[in-house]
Amino acid sequence: GKDTVARRITILGSTGSIGTNTLDVVHHLGGRDVVEVMALTGNGNVALLAAQARATGAKLAVTADDTQYASLKKALAGTGIAVAAGRSGLIEAAEMDAGWVMAAIVGNAGLAPTLAAARRGADIALANKECLVSAGPLFIAAVRQGGGRLLPVDSEHNAIFQVLEEHQRHAIERIILTASGGPFRQSTLSDMAQVTADTARAHPNWSMGLKISIDSASLFNKALEMIEAKHLFGLQPEQIEVIVHPQSVIHSMVAYSDGSVLAQLGCPDMRTAIGYALSYPRRCTLPVERLDFAKLARLDFEAPDEVRFPALRLARLAMQRGGAQGAVLNAAKEVALDAFIAGRTGFLTMASIVETVMDELSDLPDPASMDDVFAADEKARQWAAGLI
Ligand code: NAD
Ligand code: MG
Repeated sequence: GKDTVARRITILGSTGSIGTNTLDVVHHLGGRDVVEVMALTGNGNVALLAAQARATGAKLAVTADDTQYASLKKALAGTGIAVAAGRSGLIEAAEMDAGWVMAAIVGNAGLAPTLAAARRGADIALANKECLVSAGPLFIAAVRQGGGRLLPVDSEHNAIFQVLEEHQRHAIERIILTASGGPFRQSTLSDMAQVTADTARAHPNWSMGLKISIDSASLFNKALEMIEAKHLFGLQPEQIEVIVHPQSVIHSMVAYSDGSVLAQLGCPDMRTAIGYALSYPRRCTLPVERLDFAKLARLDFEAPDEVRFPALRLARLAMQRGGAQGAVLNAAKEVALDAFIAGRTGFLTMASIVETVMDELSDLPDPASMDDVFAADEKARQWAAGLI
């Protein structure tokens, strides 16, 4: 662990894909000798959460699910680890005295606790892209006021963060987000109309949580990432390009005004991005697979097809319209996605639902407060639910 800064950390969403990868990185960097875990949070998976809390010696374990409080309490009886539940428990976790907080709760549920951590000045390792999509300017302002760093963990944004030199920011022409294209990259529209959640969740390169896997198949994940990039790096919508790159080796690129394009490459493994965020501004040593260029032989690129993947067009529309369109897009997408997972709507219908709701709520002004964000989110959810 000599190459890592000793840290006190909290992981919001420790039981998920990013959360467990974060704990794996912590383990490889030296575990309890190097990193002190303050709080861990989960939702339904109390057994895993309790096991994580015991293994790391966390001070506090929180389940977001109020009904699981008693069973978490029981699972941690006699350990001295404090237990909490519900929304207030998540805030309590965020407000523990950790200098580095991994924001890895999926969806809008992550917004309030991540904001709480940002406001008190923690460095935020941001996996939860929904924070920026729904509340970009407010979230960035909260981080600035708090005085902590914003460390992008989403692999594309982490790649850009790695190759974006602050003193060359003025010379950025555009950024190029890579997209694997997902499992339906070569499918026809009529095939795509028939797919189920089980086929949509099978991502070709990355192993991720259920919702983000399906969002990757529809390219809604890339749509969210375009908006995320706009806020993170202060870009104009027309500076954000998406290219399909099926091997997922180039994680994204920055194109500068002198014609140079800088890319970050690696095997698709989120631990590299997580380790970078945990060790920043240094680098750590991780046992991830190394790139073998001879074996790789080739890298392919193709323009995304916005007829089969309208999500990209909707992201651009949301950025051009401004107002509360980011919050609306995200909330309508979450409702449509839940309905798709439950088998209540089709794969292609998700984008139609989102577009209709965006049109209905196109006159909502820029959110001036988090209450405005939550109000726009709620309106969009109601509209979307009415369409299903
Ligand atoms: P996941 O579904 O595997 O895990 C989500 C975590 O959030 C779990 O700990 C779960 O218990 C918790 N959670 C779920 N619902 C909750 C609720 N209502 N309240 C509080 N906690 C709740 O998801 P993931 O793949 O780890 O993704 C986490 C976030 O990171 C998402 O925003 C996703 O878009 C982003 N992200 C993930 C990846 C990846 O490789 N998995 C890559 C980039 C970005
Ligand atoms: Mg990503």
